[in-house]
Amino acid sequence: MTDRELRVSKIENGTVIDHVAGGQALNVLAILGIDGSEGTVVSVGVNVPSDRLGRKDVVKVEGRELSQSEVDVLSLIAPEATINIIRNYEVAEKHRVERPERVVGVLQCSNPNCITGENEPADTEFEVLKDGVRCVYCDTIIRKDFADHILA
Ligand SMILES: [Zn+2]
Repeated sequence: MTDRELRVSKIENGTVIDHVAGGQALNVLAILGIDGSEGTVVSVGVNVPSDRLGRKDVVKVEGRELSQSEVDVLSLIAPEATINIIRNYEVAEKHRVERPERVVGVLQCSNPNCITGENEPADTEFEVLKDGVRCVYCDTIIRKDFADHILA
């Protein structure tokens, strides 16, 4: 068994998010809404040497598979990530993250006057740019701290 296989196959069921850009692991956890209080078992490798990225972070979440909307937001901070779904200690599915063209109903617009704000009927919708996302309603651009803009 290679070192790499060891790293991704140690959990029984859950998700291994591999090839996260070095230093982004904690933002990944924030996007997944994991702060430890919910009891999820999580292992995080930070700045693990990687052939492809130089250094990378690896996040292993036990007992949970990611939703498509979580993967969409993840792609904004970890465009190179690989998602490994683990079932019964085996990699059951493996996907590269793909940047969506739009993210709908996931992020909150940072413009307080936006029509998608609180008590407004419109779903948030952002166009994905190379270096951020743009609200399709008010053109506000969010370039960082995506985790802080996740809708509860
Ligand atoms: Zn907006």
